[in-house]
Formats: sequence, structure tokens, C-alpha cells
Amino acid sequence: MLYIGCHLSYSKGYEAMGRQALDIDANTFAFFTRNPRGGSAKTIDEADAAALRQILENNKFGKLVAHAPYTMNACAADENIRRFAREAMTDDLLRMEAAPNNYYNFHPGSHVKQGVDVGTELIREQLNTCLTEHQTTTVLLETMAGKGSEMGRSFEELRAIIDGVELQEKLGVCLDTCHVWDGGYDIVNNLDGVLEEFDRIIGLERLKAIHLNDSLNPLGCHKDRHAKIGEGQIGADALIRVINHPQLKNLPFILETPNDIEGYAREIKFLRENYSE
Ligand code: FE
Ligand code: FE
Ligand code: ZN
Repeated sequence: MLYIGCHLSYSKGYEAMGRQALDIDANTFAFFTRNPRGGSAKTIDEADAAALRQILENNKFGKLVAHAPYTMNACAADENIRRFAREAMTDDLLRMEAAPNNYYNFHPGSHVKQGVDVGTELIREQLNTCLTEHQTTTVLLETMAGKGSEMGRSFEELRAIIDGVELQEKLGVCLDTCHVWDGGYDIVNNLDGVLEEFDRIIGLERLKAIHLNDSLNPLGCHKDRHAKIGEGQIGADALIRVINHPQLKNLPFILETPNDIEGYAREIKFLRENYSE
């Protein structure tokens, strides 16, 4: 079953996102748990959350992949920024229980000249503070393009973070095709090899979701500029191989391509036409 969707706006609440997903033939989606640039989150309307849960169940949706705000930086040098990161994640994980058993993806962060080792330790601390035994949500570390001092630029960096977390059963990884390509992993010519490397270093059982994006830039450029499917340097054929890969084909795929809602609907249709059960 192809589980595919895109980012939807949470501004009209949960049920509205479920209905919009149905409108564009999506059966998963992503949403920012709060304004992506930061700030406080809306209070959850329980009836609204219940209406979404019903839509998900009636239409056999795959796992949702919520996204933490971009301003969350667990490994900032500034303690105030790190405190916001901890408070936002703790609060978001409570709120995620309104739609239980889904995914919550976050960018590991930028170590801002403190170095990878300090960054790794700070991200571990954040996760050890925020994860709880009773949460039903799996928290996903996103593979990053390695822009500036961005952490998570290699599978090894993600593995080092995971190694220092106590509740590892609550952790997974979300692979962003634009980011890994920009990070130097050749998913165009050697998808099998990249997945073998992922398996050897992190373990494929931790791979829970895919951000499906084309990239404006060449392999290994560390730039992070997303393109529409087929309008970048990865290309449609390689992305079609990603959604059909036997080890990936049942994961939720989230489009983060530069599109309005009609553009997302077209990409979803195109990918469904190019998927074999
Ligand atoms: Fe992201
Ligand atoms: Fe992404
Ligand atoms: Zn990106």
C-alpha cells in the first residue's frame, strides 16, 4: 500500500487536515505541531481530535509524520534556545497523544561552532529529558543536508545520537531524499548501496518515514533546496524507485516539494500511477 501525503496546515484544526488529505487522495500527512518558526501551540479541541481519529481509521491511513518547529535547536549554545527546545518537545509529545501511535519528526539541530561531539551530547540530553515510557509516539531524527553546522549530516552522526538515548524504543529515523542526496548519498545510481549503508550503521528497522523531495543541487552540495518531483537533480525515475523499493514501499512518504495544494494533488496522483503493489 502506498502511503503518501504532504504537509498540511494545522491552522483550521485536526479534522480539517483529515478532510483536506482525503480531497487530494493522501493517506498520510505531515503538519507542524505549532508555528514552524516557534511560539506557543493552540490548545487541542478533543472533539476535533476525535473526528480526525475517525477519518484516519475509516480510511486506513498510514502513520502521520508531525514535524517539530524549525526553530527547535536541541544543541544550541544558548541555554534559552535549548530550554525552548525541551519545553516545545515535551509539550508536543503530550499533544501528539490526541492522535496516538504516530510519528514526530525533528531536525537534530545545529551545533553552532561547539563541534559535533558537544552537539551529539546535547541532543542526547534533550531526548533523555523529553522522551517518556508511556508516550505512544515514535520520535524521528531527520537525516539532514549538512548545511553549516547542521547535525545529522551522516548516518554515523545519527547513530551516535541514538546510542546515548535511554528510551531507544521510542526513536526512529526519517530519511529526507533531498537531504541525503545533498549530504552525498547517491540514491540515484546506488539506492541499494545507500540502504545497505543505512542498515549497517543505523539499522533499517529504525527507518520509519521518508520525506520525498527532489533537490535543486548536485550530489554532496550540502545546500538543502527542495524541488518538485522530476524538476531537480534526483529526478522522477529515481524517486519512483524509492517509493517502489521493497524495503521502503510500505513506509509513509511525505512530500515537502514547493507546491500549492493542487500541485501536491498532482504529485500524489503521479506517484500513485507509478507505484506497483
Ligand atoms: Fe524537516
Ligand atoms: Fe524534510
Ligand atoms: Zn530540507
